[in-house]
Amino acid sequence: GASIELENLSKQYPGSPQPAVDDVNMEIKAGEVVIFVGPSGCGKSTTLKMINRLIEPTGGRIRIGGEDVTDIDPVKLRRKVGYAIQSAGLFPHMTVAQNIALVPKMIGWSKTRITSRVEELLDLVGLDVGEFRGRYPRQLSGGQQQRVGVARALAADPPVLLMDEPFGAVDPITRDHLQDELIRLQHELHKTIVFVTHDFDEAIKLGDRIAVLREQSHIAQFDTPEAILTN
Ligand code: ADP
Ligand code: ADP
Repeated sequence: GASIELENLSKQYPGSPQPAVDDVNMEIKAGEVVIFVGPSGCGKSTTLKMINRLIEPTGGRIRIGGEDVTDIDPVKLRRKVGYAIQSAGLFPHMTVAQNIALVPKMIGWSKTRITSRVEELLDLVGLDVGEFRGRYPRQLSGGQQQRVGVARALAADPPVLLMDEPFGAVDPITRDHLQDELIRLQHELHKTIVFVTHDFDEAIKLGDRIAVLREQSHIAQFDTPEAILTN
């Protein structure tokens, strides 16, 4: 993994009366799983999108592995940071395999390597390779789409994973399985993970630390699950 530092991070959307994210300071250690919990609209997604450079902050800075994200080459950033979102965000005109293959292809992996990686990942998220690799997103349930979205985020084995309610539409049994897989992956690969969820049990189960956020992503608490539970 790589550390993530947020320094005086702010975002005010154009035409908005107040910032979505206001002067946030946070240090996430390399290899740490940090969970963001907080009310809808408190700026969790906005923060993740800024870390990923999908949107630009209006103030402050972000460092990944000590490097300012604005200095990281865009392709390198895609390799470094995997991103999975609630709506999965799959490209509708691409098959499951092509969606998963996006970043590996972008960074020049061979066809053989990509094909075997796609198979490995579908297996990991519990989708039958033969049945699913050639399907289009519209031929999948919401939960299956999310699982493909998670596979895509993991594809090039990025040191940093940003996950915005990635299991929200997945059925409870599969969700439990995916949570266990994530914990297992984390033990093996020591990724740095920022994970947004509304599910407090999920936060307790997955988090090394939990950031309890208020309006504008002001940090109310940032501590271990044990400490949060006793407070
Ligand atoms: P959360 O992920 O915690 O639900 P968001 O980061 O999605 O919160 O949103 C934070 C605030 O920013 C909300 O008030 C939301 O309405 C606003 N917002 C989000 N995206 C945009 C946008 N593209 N333009 C203007 N306002 C936005
Ligand atoms: P494009 O037509 O956009 O060039 P490709 O057909 O080359 O896309 O597919 C993109 C990547 O997805 C390829 O590198 C390939 O390895 C992988 N891929 C495509 N179809 C499958 C499949 N059925 N099973 C496994 N991998 C696949």
